[in-house]
Amino acid sequence: MSVTKNDTAILKNFINGEWVNSNSDQTLDVPNPATNELLTKVPVSTKEDVDLAVAAAKEAFKTWKNVPVPKRARVLFKFHHLLTENHEELARLIVLENGKAYKEAYGEVQRGIECVEFAAGAPTLMMGETLSGIAEEIDSEMFRFPLGVVGGITPFNFPMMVPLWMFPMAIACGNTFILKPSERTPILANRLAELFREAGAPAGILNVVHGAHDVVNGLLEHKDIAAISFVGSQPVAKYVYERAAAEGKRVQALSGAKNHHIVMPDADLEKAVQNIMSSTFGSAGQRCMACSAVVVVGDNAPFIAALKKSADELTIGNGMDDEVLLTPVIRKEHRDKALGYIEKGLEEGADLIRDGRREMDELPDGNFLGPTIFDHVTTDMTIAKEEIFAPVLSLLRAKDLDEGLEYIRKSRFGNGATIYTNSAKAVRQFREEADAGMLGINVGVPATMAFFPFSGWKDSFYGDLHVNGKDGLNFYTRKKMITSRF
Ligand code: NAD
Repeated sequence: MSVTKNDTAILKNFINGEWVNSNSDQTLDVPNPATNELLTKVPVSTKEDVDLAVAAAKEAFKTWKNVPVPKRARVLFKFHHLLTENHEELARLIVLENGKAYKEAYGEVQRGIECVEFAAGAPTLMMGETLSGIAEEIDSEMFRFPLGVVGGITPFNFPMMVPLWMFPMAIACGNTFILKPSERTPILANRLAELFREAGAPAGILNVVHGAHDVVNGLLEHKDIAAISFVGSQPVAKYVYERAAAEGKRVQALSGAKNHHIVMPDADLEKAVQNIMSSTFGSAGQRCMACSAVVVVGDNAPFIAALKKSADELTIGNGMDDEVLLTPVIRKEHRDKALGYIEKGLEEGADLIRDGRREMDELPDGNFLGPTIFDHVTTDMTIAKEEIFAPVLSLLRAKDLDEGLEYIRKSRFGNGATIYTNSAKAVRQFREEADAGMLGINVGVPATMAFFPFSGWKDSFYGDLHVNGKDGLNFYTRKKMITSRF
């Protein structure tokens, strides 16, 4: 299968509507995580490449900002049509470069398409506000304007959905955009750029510059970039937030997570197990909304036995095979890091009740790690505190809901949390007191959809305005107030 239509041994950047070679001759391999076969190479682009892209985007902004909003939205309608038409191909590309299961990838494409649907509502979303008579014979009007050139830096785990959290809304609002995709999953970005051009986007509106930290720093430092959207790991998110803010840019930086699921004694056991299994082990645990810590309230031995049995029965393999739930992690080095956490868990006294290391030898070519579960984890242990981003689950014991909520409060992260219960009283207490921005009630992955903000808290988010929903609109526009006396 060809990875992109502009298929070459080395991926190209997309600048000013053209496929161009990077200035750099340095490249990184892009292997298939399930087999480690080489798919393509990605250039490690330079600051000069960034300068070219910014110059193109800056020039394109001069006309794009004046294109009537409904006309801008029409490009998104066409893009939506093309994404829908190519839904299966896009999902296959995600499996190829990211490794997740086809069903998950298909769902990811759908989530991305929904962002385009939302952004196509720009003519309504961008409406301002007016008030006649703020004082005698004086009226006030608010108009929204785009910011200019915006940069987007994205992670490997959602190569379709995360870029689509950003550029459709930014561009619908009249900005022009430079995307720096993850160097570990760069293929899909080129396909998106190709389809966006086919949808009628003029040259320079969307640009793609591949690479690693040099490109990121190039974007953060560039005086002609007005805003930065970032999604990735916590240390990098914090760095990007601080650096971009110091350069006077508007910034939203979505970061790492440690999502707790509280299982109350009255929970529907079968459904809780099913939800936790797919939240923890789907996409090999590489989701910012993955369940990575379960708080078992009371001595729920049947729940723990059912969870372990379900983990033993899990199908592991290549994401292209039907019925596979547990797929490989992105790179061998990433698996090594997870193995280090397993060692740390053992050292610190957690009880390893399901050791996923045993499946590694069965599938030696890909970056597989079997489902791994630690019991009797305490909040001071490293595996309870840090994001592992792999199929490794910690079970913490709590005597009641209050103690469970305390564990969530103690976590530095606050992306998501879930409760499994049938008690309205417990649900209400959880809703009021859980210290995280996206909550699930009997829902395994309470990720929000395009028309709501993706609202992580604490160290899971740096900034003021989240991606998506009205936050997304507000992030990519600035307001102008007119006060008139007639
Ligand atoms: P990562 O931080 O390694 O990379 C993200 C981006 O930052 C990439 O484009 C990468 O090239 C760039 N980057 C990496 N190191 C850098 C450095 N030192 N200087 C400058 N740029 C650098 O993240 P990842 O491993 O690709 O993605 C997984 C992480 O993303 C997890 O922590 C996950 O929780 C997080 N994530 C968060 C959300 C959210 O909504 N909060 C969503 C998806 C992923």
